[in-house]
Amino acid sequence: MHDNTTLIRARIRRFVSERVTPALYRTSSPLTISAWEVPDEPVPFAEALGQEFTPFAIGSPWGKPWGTTWFHVTGVVPEDWSRFGQLETRTEILVDLGFLSGQAGFQAEGLVYNPEGRILKAVEPFNNYVPLEVGPGGVVDVYVEAASNPDVGSDWTFLPTPVGDKATAGTEPIYRLRRMDVALLDTAVWQLDRDIWTLLGLMEELSADLPRTAEIMRALEAVTDAMDPDDVSGTAHLGRAILAPILALPAYASAHRIVAVGHAHIDSAWLWPVRETVRKCARTFSNVLQLMDEDPNFIFACSSAQQYAWMKEHYPQLFARIRERAIEGRFVPVGGMWVESDTNMPGGEALARQLLAGKSFFMREFGVEPLEVWLPDSFGYTAAFPQIVAAAGSKYFLTQKISWNETNTMPHHTFNWEGIDGTRVFTHFPPVDTYNSLLSGEELARAQRQYSEKGASNVSLVPFGYGDGGGGPTREMLAAAKRTESLEGSPSVRIASPRAFFEEAEGSYPNPPVWSGELYLEFHRGTYTSQAKTKSGNRRSEHLLREAELWATAATLRTGADYPHERIEAAWQTVLLNQFHDILPGSSIAWVHQVAEQTYAAVRVELEDVIAQALAALAGPDAGELVAFNASPFAVSGVAALSAAPRTAPATLRVEARDGGFVLENSAVRVVIDARGLLVSLVDLSTGREAVPAGEPGNVLQLFRDTPTQWDAWDLDEHYQRTGVELLEADSVDLVSQEPGRATVRVTRTFGSSTVAQDLTLLGDQATLDIVTRVDWHERQKLLKLAFPLDVHADRAASEIQFGHIYRPTHVNTSWDAARFETCAHRWVFVGEPGFGLAVANDSTYGHDIGRRTRAGGGTTTTVRESLLRAPTFPDPSADQGVHVLRTSIGITPDVIGAAEQGYRVNLPLREVSGAAVEPVVTSTCASIVVEAVKLAEDRSGDVIVRLYEARGARATGSVQFGFPVGQIVETDILERTVEPVAVTGAADNGVRLSVRAFQIVTLRVSVAS
Ligand SMILES: [Zn+2]
Repeated sequence: MHDNTTLIRARIRRFVSERVTPALYRTSSPLTISAWEVPDEPVPFAEALGQEFTPFAIGSPWGKPWGTTWFHVTGVVPEDWSRFGQLETRTEILVDLGFLSGQAGFQAEGLVYNPEGRILKAVEPFNNYVPLEVGPGGVVDVYVEAASNPDVGSDWTFLPTPVGDKATAGTEPIYRLRRMDVALLDTAVWQLDRDIWTLLGLMEELSADLPRTAEIMRALEAVTDAMDPDDVSGTAHLGRAILAPILALPAYASAHRIVAVGHAHIDSAWLWPVRETVRKCARTFSNVLQLMDEDPNFIFACSSAQQYAWMKEHYPQLFARIRERAIEGRFVPVGGMWVESDTNMPGGEALARQLLAGKSFFMREFGVEPLEVWLPDSFGYTAAFPQIVAAAGSKYFLTQKISWNETNTMPHHTFNWEGIDGTRVFTHFPPVDTYNSLLSGEELARAQRQYSEKGASNVSLVPFGYGDGGGGPTREMLAAAKRTESLEGSPSVRIASPRAFFEEAEGSYPNPPVWSGELYLEFHRGTYTSQAKTKSGNRRSEHLLREAELWATAATLRTGADYPHERIEAAWQTVLLNQFHDILPGSSIAWVHQVAEQTYAAVRVELEDVIAQALAALAGPDAGELVAFNASPFAVSGVAALSAAPRTAPATLRVEARDGGFVLENSAVRVVIDARGLLVSLVDLSTGREAVPAGEPGNVLQLFRDTPTQWDAWDLDEHYQRTGVELLEADSVDLVSQEPGRATVRVTRTFGSSTVAQDLTLLGDQATLDIVTRVDWHERQKLLKLAFPLDVHADRAASEIQFGHIYRPTHVNTSWDAARFETCAHRWVFVGEPGFGLAVANDSTYGHDIGRRTRAGGGTTTTVRESLLRAPTFPDPSADQGVHVLRTSIGITPDVIGAAEQGYRVNLPLREVSGAAVEPVVTSTCASIVVEAVKLAEDRSGDVIVRLYEARGARATGSVQFGFPVGQIVETDILERTVEPVAVTGAADNGVRLSVRAFQIVTLRVSVAS
């Protein structure tokens, strides 16, 4: 046979675009439109209904950026449409708000109500219809709440844009209404269109030399021959009949099995503010509910309890419908977290609370406990997560993001992921490499082709539906799923829940491979640093929450004060929301970060008040003596952990001016700051060992060009390292305070358009130099690092993560090591040799890099650098401009426990109040068994919950004693449900004895004896 394949394929495509697609609707008729533009922020339906609507013509501009316009749409279905008959037609409203060609969810969208206020469905790009129940002569009367959201991402050129802030976005309309019709869908043509789409998609993926490929092509060619191009409607059945036997051929016995899960990965904020996400959820969920009414097989999975909570608050009718479907098992709460958070930066307790708040919500509202952690899009995954997942009673983990790695390919798609403590969790990366699948032939083939477990496992998950900005699954996607249930040449698609997938995957793959440690994303490394105020808001809030819960618990136990459950819960919910994977990482528009900063400020006011009330109750009437409250799990300045007592008298300090700089010395260390304000010597007086390498001073600010190739707020590219300058010149170096037990040297510098003042303080009783860096930052596309070359030989560095720490090599032997050129740490990093090391702690910095250099005299030195500030210009062109205050503490300590102690101290300053001393409510006798949280139980029984973890990375034994009369003590999971004891080995004096493995998390529930 002559080969005319290319021509045939082109002919089929033209037939579809020129004949079939235009025939999807048999006829249409314009509706009458009037409009009311909301002056500013969105209003509820009832408020909009009472406004004065004015006539509006198709083709007219509407919608300033971030505005809302309500369209009142009325009309009658033309009487003469009865000539088309009722069979194989469907009456719909068709809306084109002036949609852009780009992505759904990144532009105009609308929510459609009937006049009684019932939500019918949303209209958005690729999903722009609303089904009508009426036939010819029937009345059409709906309201469309149209959001004129600007397309911030635009064409992903990452150029600075003013539209991410309402104040700078402009007020001119950005859309033009194109269509508002009643129309008659030809369902036979629609089905034919779907048949062709699926077969074309499959054909393009199959190898050209397969008989099946040619068979599909010839059948499609036959359709174009047989159908009348001038009467597509009348000959659609003819076309479908030709394709039916082709579609009926079953899948190969070895075909890859795909569990398709309806999904809409709605980012809780990103290139739109949180308030718009609330509406995005309503739009997407209304699409989903409408589709569920039509297709009983459709299952939709949605994560983020927060998004359901928004529906409950703002759209109670929609929420009631969601609840019905959730109980039925079709609207599936998945993941069990409050939001799909970042997992690099949230603290241990916060990550536990993501699951506590999320799962509790789903169990309370729907009686459903999600067992899968569902984080398709977060930017890398902490090695602490497997244990946290298990400790929350969950079993499975899903992400897709690691496929975005720039350098290395993850070897597994289905595997056991092992955390720092050894806990393993069954994990899946969908090989389809998207969480926004259309179920296209190309995507299905990709899932099968890429699946790396082939031969051992043959099932993968595909999340389908428009995501990011929402939209969700469409009827076209469901049609694709139906056609690929069993289709020769295609993977077999079955719509099911994530749970069904995991059970099948786990059951059919008894010995999956193991990946140990973090799932580091080789991408988006700037997210540890961008939007520093959001970072510091998170860190401060987490520690205020710790203090508020600890002291409020103590006040309740000791004085009978009411425990402020609601206030603390509300604060947690704000903090958990702000840990969303585009907020805390700093990758959102200006509006989002402005709101985050405002909400952090409000949380601060609220929690400071909770703390102040608790401290006042605990300290009692003013006795004229100052006591210091210490919320750290370690003693600070003579005040025992978690107690209040007078601090020890200030130890003496020696201060000497030398060569334009200063020497500060206490009983533990001698610090030399030179005339440039640099740290030129740090000597451990107990051994005489110098920690600063000769000729390589510390406390060096370094300024780098920071112009990533793409994704500005997200990415820190490796090439930044080649363009740095050291800011060595000081404007002044002065001793600004010297008092008993404390001396401070202030260093000021000027660079670019910015100024920096650093206060370097040595306290009498600490082996650390505390540095407060105050930067008035007006650079753009620059990175500011603070460097400490250290005279220790360290093959690896420990970085604090949730409930422990992770070791990462300081060398770059492999491509995996080299790609890890910027890493996330929480309160501290530690580098050392056995018995001697240094901790660099911080109060709000996450980004670090730790490398090695050749040492003068032999060996290597280790350089620890903190990434203090960036200034990306997309998506927030003014990111990070202004004043920042960042605390760093560098200290000598033999091991990681000393580093942990320093980390807590920097983040939990003592609070001095006049009054009486307070005994701790809980005491751990083992230095490495650390108290992470003390709170009252969620069930409001009055039981005390204490969460501890092993912080050294070694087996430990000790006892935990309670400073109140205890009744029963049980071990629980994160959800505070009793579990089999694994750590408690017996009773101790008013407490328990514990034996814990490395990094083990232990939660105790303690009832109070009456
Ligand atoms: Zn996302």
